[in-house]
Formats: sequence, structure tokens, C-alpha cells
Amino acid sequence: MTQAIKPGMLYQVRSVCECPKCGGAGMVRHPGWERYRMEKEIRSQIDDEYFFREEMGYDRIPPEEVNCDRCLGSGQLEEFVPFDDAMTAWRQQRRIRLRNLLNGIATVLAEMEFSDQEIGCLLSALQAISRND
Ligand SMILES: [Zn+2]
Repeated sequence: MTQAIKPGMLYQVRSVCECPKCGGAGMVRHPGWERYRMEKEIRSQIDDEYFFREEMGYDRIPPEEVNCDRCLGSGQLEEFVPFDDAMTAWRQQRRIRLRNLLNGIATVLAEMEFSDQEIGCLLSALQAISRND
């Protein structure tokens, strides 16, 4: 059962996207290992055990990969956006998909040797459909 839409209520849409920090993997290189990698490029010899224990103050060598601190290991970022903003974004995506579809159809029609006039009529009909939003 859906709730009735009431005036003055704030409607939001749940938005989920891939975490840009870890690329959706949920894991990132431990910052200590990142530092170790940079030090290794500068120094000719570096021992990981010595580096982590003596120079970085760790009591043991940390794992090379840890949960991403931005998405907490889920690989996704979730937020709630205003309904109108979500609709605007959805319409933009829809227009892009329709434009790509129309370009694809135009290419196929040209390969099938339809006349320019026939292609023009078909594309006009499809564009009229795409404007209905
Ligand atoms: Zn992440």
C-alpha cells in the first residue's frame, strides 16, 4: 500500500553510486603501505618489518588492503536527493539514451538503403515520442 502524497511533504529518492575512492571494490591500500611504497622508491634498501615497527610505530605489519574509509567497505555511496533533482537527472539520462538509440537506428536505416525522406519520417516519429516526458 502506497502512502498518499500530501502537500508540504518532502519527498526524497535514494541514490546509490559506485564509491569513487575505491572504485566499488570496498578496499583500499593501507596508508602505511602507500608510504612504504614511496619510501622504497627513494631509498635503495628498506626493510618492511623495520619500517613499520621502528619508523611508523606499528606493533605489527598492517594488512596491505583495508576497508575503504569513504564507503566503509561497501563499495557504494548512498545518499538521499530531492525527488525533483532525481527526476531531472533521470530525464537527462533518458534523453541521452534516446539520442544514442536514434543515432543507432539512423545508421541501420542508412545501411538498409532507405531513402533520406523515409529515414527523416521515422526519426521525426521517434523524436516526437522522446519529447513526451
Ligand atoms: Zn569505497
